[in-house]
Amino acid sequence: MFATPAQAGSSDGLVAPGGTSVSGFSGTYAGSAAEAAANRAFLQAVLRSVAKKRAASPKLTAVTVVYDASQAPTFASEIAGSAQIWNGAVHNVRLSAGGANADFSYYEGNDSRGSYADTDGSGHGYVFLDYQQNQEYYSQRVVAHETGHVLGLPDDYSGPCSELMSGGGPGPSCRNTQPDQQERNQVDSIWSNANLSKLAPVS
Ligand SMILES: [Zn+2]
Repeated sequence: MFATPAQAGSSDGLVAPGGTSVSGFSGTYAGSAAEAAANRAFLQAVLRSVAKKRAASPKLTAVTVVYDASQAPTFASEIAGSAQIWNGAVHNVRLSAGGANADFSYYEGNDSRGSYADTDGSGHGYVFLDYQQNQEYYSQRVVAHETGHVLGLPDDYSGPCSELMSGGGPGPSCRNTQPDQQERNQVDSIWSNANLSKLAPVS
């Protein structure tokens, strides 16, 4: 989640169905159990999807996570930009645009909860991008932040602007779109071969 709305409003226009909890971009909701659980569920969903492909093609060494951006056309450039940012920042996992074979999808719409990463009723991971939040905050930062959840990072709303996972915590004026060194190291650790074989064994 990028930021938590200051007050609960009505939710209208959530595109992806079946989500049960949220993991988003800012503030007061920081560190709630529901958010942390959604982050973990999302990562597990992506890892399961990737593990299936690894099982089908055991010779694959580089881990590639494929995304489908076709349901979030407004954010096409920010989504491509996020892949570029993360691919330039980490070594053990790569984001790649795709369609039918995607490990997760981006959606867009209006949701009072803002933007978030979650799993649907079938256990597929998706990132939801909220129109209003992406106007209030720097959109490239929002999308790169949510993509950070795809790669396994939790929210850290109390962190500085130099962190990507502080999301909306530092306020709308923060336009940093790059993960800091600690966040890069954390992603490379999560996606190291040794760790992957523990989390999502290929058999
Ligand atoms: Zn978040």
